Amino acid sequence: MMLTHAQRDRLVDLRRDFHRHPELAHEEERTARVIAERLRSIALDEVCTRVGRTGVVGVLNGARAGRRVMLRADIDALPLTESDHGQPYRSSREGVHHACGHDGHTAILLTVAEVLAARRDDLRGSVQFVFQPAEERVDGAAGMLRDGVLEPTPDACFGLHLWNEVEVGRIDVRPGPIYASADAFVIELAGSGGHAAMPHQVADPVVAAAELIVALQTLVSRESPPMEPAVLTIGSIHGGTAPNIIPSCVEIQGTLRTFSPGLRARLLTRIEAVMTDVARTFRVEPKLLMTDACPACINDAPMAELVQRVGTRVLGASNVGQQQQTMGADDMSEFLNAVPGCYFFVGAANAERGLQSPHHSPTFDFDERALDIGVQMLTSVALEYLEAG
Ligand SMILES: [Zn+2]
Ligand SMILES: [Zn+2]
Repeated sequence: MMLTHAQRDRLVDLRRDFHRHPELAHEEERTARVIAERLRSIALDEVCTRVGRTGVVGVLNGARAGRRVMLRADIDALPLTESDHGQPYRSSREGVHHACGHDGHTAILLTVAEVLAARRDDLRGSVQFVFQPAEERVDGAAGMLRDGVLEPTPDACFGLHLWNEVEVGRIDVRPGPIYASADAFVIELAGSGGHAAMPHQVADPVVAAAELIVALQTLVSRESPPMEPAVLTIGSIHGGTAPNIIPSCVEIQGTLRTFSPGLRARLLTRIEAVMTDVARTFRVEPKLLMTDACPACINDAPMAELVQRVGTRVLGASNVGQQQQTMGADDMSEFLNAVPGCYFFVGAANAERGLQSPHHSPTFDFDERALDIGVQMLTSVALEYLEAG
């Protein structure tokens, strides 16, 4: 399956248009408008906007009855300024940059919709195109679920992430976990506050916080099985105003990452227990607030096999890897939790052309040949799944 010249030009134009006009999580108004207009112009059977605030969903019904497959792309950008490396499609908005490749994901899925819509007369089953907002806040998928995006429930779901850890021309796909769960939390330790020279009169939340941070680190080093990945990072600590005042409150923020739902549940329980016990020891009042939660992305084995098979056909066996896993999080997991599916990586780096910056960096950009590969992969995966039904 090859794209026509016109389709390929449109694909790159779409990506560059989204890249020039990036929008942050939950603010994807223009992006959603462009997506909806495009989906209407190719005459999908249904186009719904405002699904999970700024999400868009399109449905294509093939002429022949069959299964329903969901394809997902995330559409949001990040709060950082793009560096100028002479690219003609540089972000027009200071402080907002498509630094994760979601502009590419959006353009790819729109093109897949166009390609599949053109063959609806011999298409078996139906395809649901899900354009999900706010992935970078890992709560966009949850909003779409609340708005009923999985009713009726699709039989399978697939998605891809352009990936600068992998050279363009390759894909990477594996069964099991590929992105970690992410649980963000805030801990408040409250004492009474007082004079730095008279610590015996107060309960000191600064010393309690120091002890707590060290104690929390032992949850990974001493309580997690060494063969099961887990990360507990305290990324923020705030308290106090002067050297001679013991403050009345210290606030700590952190994130927990795991691949295993069981380990995740156990460590969350232990974070609370360790906090409570350390606070008791130091006579301060603890409060735990869970802010964001996202499960691990776990690929269904038969679905991962299907993607591997398609990848081998499209790119050749030597270009299909299965190494990529990250302790980063992606809320594609919300869909994978509910529907068997597979999320895979499409290589987007080109070292020779200097396109290998890490995701989320000011210089992030990718080789646009990856767009074409993404369209071929996702289209073929959808067709293969529907035809086998
Ligand atoms: Zn990202
Ligand atoms: Zn991303």
